[in-house]
Amino acid sequence: MTAKIIDGKKVAEKVISDIGKKVKGMKVKPGLAVVLVGKNPASQIYVGMKEKKCKEAGFYSEKHVLDERIDEIALLKIVDELNQNSKIHGMLVQLPLPKHINEQLIIDAIVPHKDADGFNPLNMGNMLIGNNMILPATPKGVMRLFDEYNIKLEGKHAVVIGRSNIVGKPISVLLQQRNATVTMCHSRTKDLKGITKKADIIVAAVGKAKMIKKDMVKKGAVVIDVGMNRDKGKLCGDVDFEHVKSVASYITPVPRGVGPMTIAMLLENTLECMELRK
Ligand code: NDP
Repeated sequence: MTAKIIDGKKVAEKVISDIGKKVKGMKVKPGLAVVLVGKNPASQIYVGMKEKKCKEAGFYSEKHVLDERIDEIALLKIVDELNQNSKIHGMLVQLPLPKHINEQLIIDAIVPHKDADGFNPLNMGNMLIGNNMILPATPKGVMRLFDEYNIKLEGKHAVVIGRSNIVGKPISVLLQQRNATVTMCHSRTKDLKGITKKADIIVAAVGKAKMIKKDMVKKGAVVIDVGMNRDKGKLCGDVDFEHVKSVASYITPVPRGVGPMTIAMLLENTLECMELRK
């Protein structure tokens, strides 16, 4: 068996092009503000890509690059200004933040209706009770890929590896909403391979290059790789793609898989934020 490759880049391009068409006809353009603190190279790349896609879709965008020594109060003030800025419909503060800043405090300060990343506890809590508002972009992008490829989730055993607030936890909630039976794994899970071997669907969101090996995957399983790691300088996921693709039925590559979907969903979320303000 050779897996069908889930082309996240292609799906994301279509989403962004459709958003662009919609925006063309709008008098007021959707506005996204991105706040970047410090000079983390990966964050600089992500923010650059977000800016590029905003332009492509005809959004109004602002980038606020701040010194890494900025204190919490000064950062909170900038978030508050953006909360009140009528040109800005959605915003995000690029994570991770420098260690001296309490990330949750900053996320909490973004008003929920401008929370383009969907990380605010109100948006997260709404998702948990099934009242989806603004969904976290990466989990939302993963769900869109299942739908685009007609991958049925109901009754399937989905194993999510990783339990972060921004990826693993929300993905497990969204999969449960779609009637999958979800097992969540993390660094203290015993016999990971024994669990993944039983999975119809595997979502890897760990941050460890190529840790999901072929012998951990059941024949015909769907494998979604959220990981973005460097292996000998080359971008790769959490899944050993070259070998796992020979047993999986569907698989996302890295790059061109989940990553582009995250940005597409961020733009979609900004449009949804705009709708919420009406
Ligand atoms: P975190 O570091 O916040 O979480 C990693 C999770 O993996 C934790 O829950 C941790 O467990 C678990 N874990 C660590 N080691 C193991 C192990 N050996 N076995 C099983 N579980 C393990 O990472 P994120 O969720 O933020 O990101 C995960 C990956 O996804 C990263 O590579 C990141 O770069 C990528 N990413 C990609 C995005 C995209 O757009 N494609 C967007 C966001 C992230 P524990 O909780 O016990 O510590």
